[in-house]
Formats: sequence, structure tokens, C-alpha cells
Amino acid sequence: MLIDGHGRTVNYLRVSVTERCNFRCQYCMPEKPFSWVPKENLLSFEELFWFIKVAIDEGVNKIRITGGEPLLREDLDTFIRMIHDYKPDIDLALTTNGYLLPDVAYRLKAAGLGRLNISLDSLKPHVAAKIAQKDVLAKVLDGIERALTVGLKVKINMVPLKGINDDEILDILDYCQARNIKVRFIEYMENRHADESLRGMHGREILDKVKERHTIHALGREGASPSFNYVLENGYEFGLIDPHKHDFCESCNRIRLTAEGFLIPCLYFDEAMSIAEHVKKGDIEGASQVLAQVLKDKPKENRWSEENPNEEKEISARAFYQTGG
Ligand code: SAM
Ligand code: SF4
Repeated sequence: MLIDGHGRTVNYLRVSVTERCNFRCQYCMPEKPFSWVPKENLLSFEELFWFIKVAIDEGVNKIRITGGEPLLREDLDTFIRMIHDYKPDIDLALTTNGYLLPDVAYRLKAAGLGRLNISLDSLKPHVAAKIAQKDVLAKVLDGIERALTVGLKVKINMVPLKGINDDEILDILDYCQARNIKVRFIEYMENRHADESLRGMHGREILDKVKERHTIHALGREGASPSFNYVLENGYEFGLIDPHKHDFCESCNRIRLTAEGFLIPCLYFDEAMSIAEHVKKGDIEGASQVLAQVLKDKPKENRWSEENPNEEKEISARAFYQTGG
């Protein structure tokens, strides 16, 4: 079992397989980075899988593949199959912008993928295009339908932004209710890479929008999930991911692995330790030691927390497209 320096059990590994992306979301990667990580520095699927096996053997039972846009990496289904075949009962999920899903949803499902989180910030083509800086909506909606058709469990992520898509919270809720899929509204997290003019919505403001049409009841956090759940009068459940709230980190159970082999203890923690050298040497003991150190270093709470006195809480140098969100 993996326990961090604050006594929290860590059983969830998020693996970013690429930092590259086919969107330029204003809150994540508004401009193409000056340079990408050179291809030769990326760990191969075999190398990532080697470390994943170490992590599974030490207690990880939940893995999410993310990015950048993970579907940009060729043969992702082969990687998914490797993990699934090693431990068929593992909770295996993927986060994607959905654009490439229409073509690969079936292969992902056949390879053993269980769940899919798809980002959907707007149902209006021009607003989706404004946020992603590309005409994306039709293909994303097609990707969602395709994923549902092949039997993948789908959740939707929406980041509400003031003056951009804040008038669509109820529409996205309706869209998800109609398909019986859960939506999670994510508070915009400030970071140095995002467009400076963006203003996120506080969880309270998001709930106020929902209350304009619905009666809602709080259900509480779903296990160690960052999502705080609510239920509407008709029984439909949705979630709010509110990293600015003080209790957000209490049950955090996750660490992150980047495509280059850096292990990151917290989304908002700038330091990271590389396992690449150990992976290349097949040195299980060395990799386990790095894992243990990263767990020891895992901070008690992120720097977005409103109760965190750190003056730099609003600014993170680490990009979401590198850590996988
Ligand atoms: N490209 C995939 C996607 O967009 O779903 C996976 C990677 S993306 C970094 C993972 C999640 O992080 C997405 O749901 C995205 O909306 C969220 N995200 C990115 N930047 C964010 C920010 N500044 N604040 C809140 N959520 C953010
Ligand atoms: Fe790409 Fe996802 Fe970041 Fe948007 S949020 S730029 S789709 S990695």
C-alpha cells in the first residue's frame, strides 16, 4: 500500500502520455509552446507500462490516461490493452477533448478501457471555437455519441468562464441529463500559461446558476474524488470540482506521471522527480525509491486553497497540458 507523508493512501496514478494537443484552450494552452519536449525524451508505451506495473504492484488500482491530448499518441489502444491485460480489474479511464474519438472509441473499448471523461465547454459552435481556438464542436459531440454507442461510461467536464460560457451551465446540465451522463463543473484554476483575461466562476456562482432552475441537495464528496456531488429534485446527480475549497485536498489519493517520466505529487507542485533513468535500466528498486520520496513530498494542500496564506497561490508555472490536469 502507498501512504503519503500526511497519512493519505495513494492508489490512483494519472499518466500523461503526451503534452501535445490539437486544441489551444484559452485556460490551458492558448499558444503553441515555444518548444515541445523532444520526441526522444518521451517514454515509450513499453517504458511507461514498466513503471505502471511497479506502481500497480505497490498498490495502485486506478489509472487515468491523459495529456495534452492522449488520442494524439498513436496506438493508444495497444497501451490500454497492456495495462488491462496485466490487471483486468483495474479501474482504467481516459480524459480526452473528444475530437478524435469518433474513429477510435470502439478500439478503446475493445482494448479494455472502462471510463471516459470528455471535456465539453459549450454547445454553441462559435463559443466552443473561441475557447479551443478551433472549430471543434461537431466532432466532439460526435465523439460523445460514439463513446456512448460502444458502451463506454462517459462523464463530461466543463470549465465555466465569466462572459464566455457562463450562460451555458444549465444547457450543458440538460444535455448531460438527457443522455444520463454525469457532468462535473470545474472551477477555473489560475496558471501562468492561461490567457490573462480569463475569469473563472467560483463554485458558489456555478451552483447559483443551477439553482435558477432547480432545487439542489448536497450529497458530499464521492470517496477520494475531487468532485463534490449534488442531486437535483428529479434524482439527477452532478459534480463540482472546487480546488479553491479548503477540504479539497483532505482525501487526495493521486500522483501524476508525465510523458517524460517525471513523477509529480500534486497538480500545483512545481518540483518533480524523474523515474526515466530507472525505467531505462529496469531498476525496480530505484523506481520504488523515487516513488516513496515523491509520496513523502506530497504537499498537504494545493496552493489554490482560499485558506492558503501563500501569496503565490494564484500562479502556477506548471502547465495543465504537461501534468494532465
Ligand atoms: N486534452 C484532454 C482534455 O481536454 O480533456 C485531457 C487533458 S486536460 C489538461 C484535462 C482536464 O483539465 C480537462 O477537463 C480540462 O478542461 C482541464 N483543465 C485544463 N486547464 C484547466 C484550468 N486552467 N482550470 C481548470 N481545468 C482545467
Ligand atoms: Fe488540449 Fe485539453 Fe489543454 Fe484543451 S484542456 S488545450 S484540449 S490539453
